[in-house]
Amino acid sequence: MGLSRPKILCSACLEHCNCRYDGSVIKNETIEKLKEYVDFVTVCPEMAIGLPSPREAIRIIKTDSGFKLVDSYKGTDRTPDMEKFMDGFFKENNQDEFDGVILKCKSPTCGLKDAKYYPSAGKVPSIDKTNGFFGGAIKSHFPNLPTEDDGRLMHFNIREHFLMSLFLHFEFRNVVSEVNTIKKISPLVAFHTKNKYLFMAYHQKALSQMGKIVANHEHHHPDEVLKLYEQAMLPIYSTYPNSGKNTNMLLHLFGYFKNELSKDEKSFFLDQLEQYQNKKIPFSSVLMIIRSWVIRFDEPYLKNQTIFNMFPTDLIEVTDSGKGL
Ligand code: SF4
Repeated sequence: MGLSRPKILCSACLEHCNCRYDGSVIKNETIEKLKEYVDFVTVCPEMAIGLPSPREAIRIIKTDSGFKLVDSYKGTDRTPDMEKFMDGFFKENNQDEFDGVILKCKSPTCGLKDAKYYPSAGKVPSIDKTNGFFGGAIKSHFPNLPTEDDGRLMHFNIREHFLMSLFLHFEFRNVVSEVNTIKKISPLVAFHTKNKYLFMAYHQKALSQMGKIVANHEHHHPDEVLKLYEQAMLPIYSTYPNSGKNTNMLLHLFGYFKNELSKDEKSFFLDQLEQYQNKKIPFSSVLMIIRSWVIRFDEPYLKNQTIFNMFPTDLIEVTDSGKGL
């Protein structure tokens, strides 16, 4: 039986628990909406090492023997406890069980790369920024998982990319489980087919490599095909589409309808495409023109393409902090 919902590992103080140093919880609209579609596993490493909430804030300091996690004013060293907690956490939890990670930005514990570090405890200015202790460990133990922090998720493009990656990852985990059950790669072929134009928008080279892998001319065992395909798919998670790649993909889709459309319809589409390239209208506007033709001409191959439906539509709104990429 397939997996029912994507699973996200999340900092507990984001939308779930009053566990911050000041006893608060942080509201987050994206996480709130996601609750309807995904299962969250929450973790607060600071409370897991026995700290209360509220508590004295902690910080990272740079010492001769490396970074330490200490109470911001008293200077009590929390590093051994945090390392012990993380050892246990990564023994019990494996990246294969999750589809994504959302962590609290800027936290000395959960931050991904924007945690300030200081020369010492006490009233001193920070030196620079680095990985939070737990956030850094997530990156090295769960390297293949879509991972973001709440700050970056405020940016529309980053949020959209994270959601696409999350649902793609989940679907692929289902494919792995089906292939392992039936010992045939047909579910992987179906997955590749319906994601073709999504992959084309993200990474043309990865798409063609994945195509060769599913064709399986070498007659590899299904386990080996899955392994190769998963590796080849990694660039999709780490690349963002741009107007050149999107235009190329849209023109491929346009090709399906060239003989069905009137001259005016074609020139309207090409004009809209040019406006998209000149950043006058969003990508989704041009994609929706194509989608309307898929419906009108009942184009069977394109109907199920995930590029038209990467994730539940009510998960995304066009709000944007303007920061991020
Ligand atoms: S940032 Fe991490 S450690 Fe800090 S309160 Fe949130 S979950 Fe706990």
